[in-house]
Amino acid sequence: MSETPFEGDMPVTEFREAGHRIVDWIADYLEQGPRAPILAAVRPGEVAAGLPEAAPEEGRPLAEMLDEFQTVLYPGLTHWNSPRFMAYFPSVASGPGILGEMLAAGIGQNAMLWRTSPAGTELELRVLDWLRDLLGLPEVFRGHIVDTASISSFLAMAAAREARSDLQVRTRGMAGRTDLPVLNVYASEEAHSSIEKGVIALGIGQENLRKIPTDEVFRMRVDALRQAVEEDRAAGRLPLAVVATVGTTSSTSIDPVPEIAEVCAEHGLWLHVDAAYGGVAAIVPGHEQVLAGCERADSLVVNPHKWLFTPMDCSAFFVRDPALLKAAFSLVPEYLTSRSVGDEVVNLMDWGVQLGRRFRALKLWLVLSRFGRQGLARRLAYHIQLARELADRIDAQPGVERLAPVNFATVCFRFQPEGWTDEDGDLEARLERLNAAVMEKANAGGEVFLSHTKLKGRYTLRLSIGHIRTTREDVTAVWELLTRLAEEEAARIG
Ligand SMILES: *Cc1c(COP(=O)(O)O)cnc(C)c1O
Repeated sequence: MSETPFEGDMPVTEFREAGHRIVDWIADYLEQGPRAPILAAVRPGEVAAGLPEAAPEEGRPLAEMLDEFQTVLYPGLTHWNSPRFMAYFPSVASGPGILGEMLAAGIGQNAMLWRTSPAGTELELRVLDWLRDLLGLPEVFRGHIVDTASISSFLAMAAAREARSDLQVRTRGMAGRTDLPVLNVYASEEAHSSIEKGVIALGIGQENLRKIPTDEVFRMRVDALRQAVEEDRAAGRLPLAVVATVGTTSSTSIDPVPEIAEVCAEHGLWLHVDAAYGGVAAIVPGHEQVLAGCERADSLVVNPHKWLFTPMDCSAFFVRDPALLKAAFSLVPEYLTSRSVGDEVVNLMDWGVQLGRRFRALKLWLVLSRFGRQGLARRLAYHIQLARELADRIDAQPGVERLAPVNFATVCFRFQPEGWTDEDGDLEARLERLNAAVMEKANAGGEVFLSHTKLKGRYTLRLSIGHIRTTREDVTAVWELLTRLAEEEAARIG
């Protein structure tokens, strides 16, 4: 047998050269913005068609791959990192966040156990303490980082179930048991779909999620919550947890958490707060009240990868009692025991499903450190101000209607031309056609990307401001574009 020669990694000289080229590329991208439509204009399959069917037989120089990135992949990018990406909610890769990702990749940590990365573990716990304090949450909360709010809420509901250790779900499961009542989770009809997914994944059952109606500004109705809990109890079911939302996905409404906490206390329910988007507003002086009542929660999630300038992915999951997470998830096989350190350390694998853990805390640490509390607060306050200015403009402008309060930096509205009446009973349908056309034209122009929702059946455009480089000029230009398109489309649809 011939000897297999050593080849090793790519040469460090090539690494250095390609690395510098990538950093320069990113710096230009940040400085100049995308040179392409913000919403990718490719057809399904177009990117794949530009890619080889199989991995190359022999290695290719990285420089060649960077060219291919430019020609094949770049046209298939939707530019989340553009100041005029105003769809959904923002997800911003700021300078310090990007560098944190790079550094984390370079050192390749896996903080599954304290000893497999003492720095990874201790920095994660410390920056989440920082974030907790920035949000004004009580010190009893401890947090760790997971990929998404969807997983944070899943973990919260699993901990809620484990908090009822008398149910013995961890050991005995849920299927085939006659001694286990139906479990119920409660969230508003405006709650994020991830809550329902979590309920499905935990085996609680989709039909056992009670979707509580909302009031005229899309907040959970506490009277309806109370009634649902009482009905379920009377019927022999077991109310387990309530998920309150601070900043709902469609309209950014804020559920009345203090009153919901009261219901939870009365009935012994776990209170989880989904503040994935809106929670960070509490950093802004004068806006602390967005998290009012959350000091009484059992768990809470905020996503730094949304409106806190940290690149995907980084979801901060806080719990009042990490012992309950550990009770739900800790499982230590022999090969993961560490005899030299005992209970004085946290092994982050004990706090959730995943074993391996990348060093996400590094980017959050750099973001929080580079901008500081005041710098973050000023940037968030600026976005809130831009959103309020836009709301004022909408309220004063004929032919456009605002459809929800602006609680954060997202504005919900629709164009409704003066003189359009409901004589034929088709006004809603015509307004939907008009507004959908305005959005499609705006997005197709490539200068902006907006998304829509439905609020109480009404087709609604959403404009979410949250990119770290968005300025007043951006918002003004986008608004003027939308107004012009609305006039054109209204004339066309009539
Ligand atoms: C965005 C969002 C989610 C889902 O976030 P992921 O991190 O993408 O899972 C959940 N809840 C709310 C309120 C959100 O805005």
